[in-house]
Amino acid sequence: MSAIKFTLDNKFTNTFTADEIAENYPRQVMSAYSFVAPKKTAMPTLIASSELVAQQIGLTEEQVSSPEFLQLFSGNGLLENMQPFAMCYGGHQFGHWAGQLGDGRAINLAEIITPNNGHKTLQLKGAGPTPYSRTADGFAVLRSSVREFLCSEAMFHLGVATTRALSLSLTGDNVVRDMFYDGHAKAEPGAVVCRVSSSFIRFGSFQLPSSRKDLSLLTQLVDYVIERDFAHLGAPSTEVYLAWFNEVCNRTCKLVVDWMRVGFVHGVMNTDNMSIIGETIDYGPYGWIDNFDLNWTPNTTDANGKRYRFGVQAEIAQWNLFQLANAIFPLIKDVEPLEKALNNFSKNYQQQWQTMMAAKLGIELPVDAFTEGASSLERSLFIDLENLLMMIETDMTIFYRRLADLPDDKSFWLSHLKTCFYNENEITADYKSVLFNWLERYSQLRDNSNKHRSDISKAMNEVNPKYVLRNYLAQQAIELAEKQDYTLLKQLQKVLENPYDEQPEYDQFAEKRPDWAKNKAGCSMLSCSS
Ligand code: AMP
Ligand code: MG
Repeated sequence: MSAIKFTLDNKFTNTFTADEIAENYPRQVMSAYSFVAPKKTAMPTLIASSELVAQQIGLTEEQVSSPEFLQLFSGNGLLENMQPFAMCYGGHQFGHWAGQLGDGRAINLAEIITPNNGHKTLQLKGAGPTPYSRTADGFAVLRSSVREFLCSEAMFHLGVATTRALSLSLTGDNVVRDMFYDGHAKAEPGAVVCRVSSSFIRFGSFQLPSSRKDLSLLTQLVDYVIERDFAHLGAPSTEVYLAWFNEVCNRTCKLVVDWMRVGFVHGVMNTDNMSIIGETIDYGPYGWIDNFDLNWTPNTTDANGKRYRFGVQAEIAQWNLFQLANAIFPLIKDVEPLEKALNNFSKNYQQQWQTMMAAKLGIELPVDAFTEGASSLERSLFIDLENLLMMIETDMTIFYRRLADLPDDKSFWLSHLKTCFYNENEITADYKSVLFNWLERYSQLRDNSNKHRSDISKAMNEVNPKYVLRNYLAQQAIELAEKQDYTLLKQLQKVLENPYDEQPEYDQFAEKRPDWAKNKAGCSMLSCSS
């Protein structure tokens, strides 16, 4: 077997000046990054890996199962010329400027050139303290690492932009966490995930130098990102900066539309958790919608204000983009085009959301749907659907799949849809009349199309997943993994590789949340402790 070897690119570290202090202790850093070595682990074990990600970075299956892989991706061994580093960034947390944050428990192992000439950064999450760890330890526990590994891979296969996960390893060391912040700290197994992305730069990466009036670093960062990940926009100039900001707005818009399509709630949309290339990043206390509820947030830290609830993710994304606009303003020095881009975000979101809803429902939007003053039967149908789904507890994922093969005969409608309701007692006469009214309007609009019904349902099933990483399933996989049983974790990883396909052997993973999971920690709510 050939030894693991990467073509290193080291673009970030070669472009920016490193923090000149080499010791590893918490501090304010004025540079873009600090060199820092991952902490050696006691006895690492590889629990899971992604074949596709391995392939993408040029690793064979044999290499993935080698001891060298395990040592490298658990932080124990470096390849020649690897100079690991942690990045410096700031951010707004829950609406408040938090100053410097940075990679407190993430260490970039290497920036590599992939076999098809792309670039990827390999990043270890949970590999020990860095100058950005503030008062925390830099480690990660198994439960949060399982969640990151499974969810980022699931998102990829759902067609949602995301960072990927190459591997999940146990470190063999314990990590102490107070999971509910209630004074009951306990030792939990530590783990490391190797995440992979073209860029781990966040909105907060620009905010920090801007807040420090470091125009030189700010400009350098913007130029770097444009040249590296937005090269199609051309060489940096004021116009290109604006084109870039517009594209960041568009990518972020598309991302949130996709989250709304699949029922994903990020849970901590702080500006340091917003990827500049428009990927889902930082899987923390995220959650998946079981019963459709625009007001649901999975994050217990967010339970009061519900700032990051499902239904307002687009508004929050726009707020975050506004902070990014403020940060890059010194490069553009003109408010108007930035405001225009932000206003366009709302307009684009409205249009993309409607297009997405139309696809979910298998109806066609009229050609003039987005011209001003156009009456929109479709738009009211979408809004009314949200209200309908919230009237009684209705499983979002199952609802759309059942809708795809709604019988023509109305007398079968209710029995056909019954499986998506959590509580049959809630199906009152009032509810039934609202439901039937909506279904009648819906079928009329759907039948306006001259497409064949079977083609319509097929297309619906290509945007409405059958399988998502239901919160209780992730929690069950975690509880078993904590007992060294990885079968469920692997099954979930497998089934979520084809989330839109019927996989009858895995039907149990498409069922609605069981009652026991409704109010169980990890299944319905999560703390940030990870
Ligand atoms: P988050 O919102 O979870 O992405 O984290 C916010 C900030 O806290 C980032 O700077 C993280 O790197 C840092 N952080 C989170 N958990 C830890 C940890 N266990 N050790 C060190 N830093 C952490
Ligand atoms: Mg973060």
